[in-house]
Amino acid sequence: MTDEIAVPSRAMVIMAHPDDAEFVVAGTVALWAQRGSAICYCLCTRGDRGSNDPGITPWALARIREEEQRAACAILGVQELVFLDYPDGTLEPTLALRRDLTREIRRFRPEVVITSDPTARFHGDHYLNHPDHRAAGSAALDAVFPSAETRYIFPELLAQGLEPHRVHAVYIHGAAEPNVWIDIEPVLEVKAKALAAHKSQVGDAPVLEWLRGMAREQGRARGLRAAEAFRRIVLHE
Ligand SMILES: [Zn+2]
Repeated sequence: MTDEIAVPSRAMVIMAHPDDAEFVVAGTVALWAQRGSAICYCLCTRGDRGSNDPGITPWALARIREEEQRAACAILGVQELVFLDYPDGTLEPTLALRRDLTREIRRFRPEVVITSDPTARFHGDHYLNHPDHRAAGSAALDAVFPSAETRYIFPELLAQGLEPHRVHAVYIHGAAEPNVWIDIEPVLEVKAKALAAHKSQVGDAPVLEWLRGMAREQGRARGLRAAEAFRRIVLHE
C-alpha cells in the first residue's frame, strides 16, 4: 500500500549537486509538480568538480551541468532553480550556507522542504555517502529550524524584507528509518528522462533500469513496485 500524502502547494528541494535530486527524489517532485505544486530547486554547488577528464575545466563543466539541470527541471515541471555557488567537493555546513538557505526558504516560502539525511555515512554495502550531501542536508535542516522561522536569527535577512517562514514538514531522503513511502510507478519514466538529461554524469547508461532497481528496493517494505522512501518530520500541522 502507498501512503496518502497531501500534495504541498509549494516545495523546495535542497541538495548539494546537480543530478542529486534526479537520482533520489525526482519521482516525488514529478508527481507533486503534475498535481500543481510550485517547486524550487536550491542547489549548493554547480557540481563543477564532477569529472576526472583533464580536458575539461571546472569552469566549463559548471556551465554544462547548469544546462543539464535546467533541462531536467523542465522535464519534471520544476519552475525555479537557484545555485548558491559553493565549491563542489568541499562543501561544509557553515553559518554562511545556513544563512543562504534561510534566505531562500524565507523568499520562496515552501510548505515542504526535501533534503538528504546529514547523518548517513554510507548506504548499503557499496556506497560511501558524499560529504557534500551530508553538509547540504545538515545546513538545510538547520535553516528550516530554527533560523527560517525565528525572527531575530540572521537579522540581516529581516533588513532585506525577508520575514520569518514556518516550513510545515521536511522530507529526508536516505534516512535509516523512513516513515513515508511515495509510489512513483506512474512517473518512473519521467524520472529517468530527467536523470538522463545529466549526460556529463550518466552518459548513455541504462538509467531507467538503475532507477527501477532503486525504487523496487525502497518500495519493498510497503509492497510497492516503485517508491521513494523518506523520513518525514512534521514541524507544524
Ligand atoms: Zn551528489
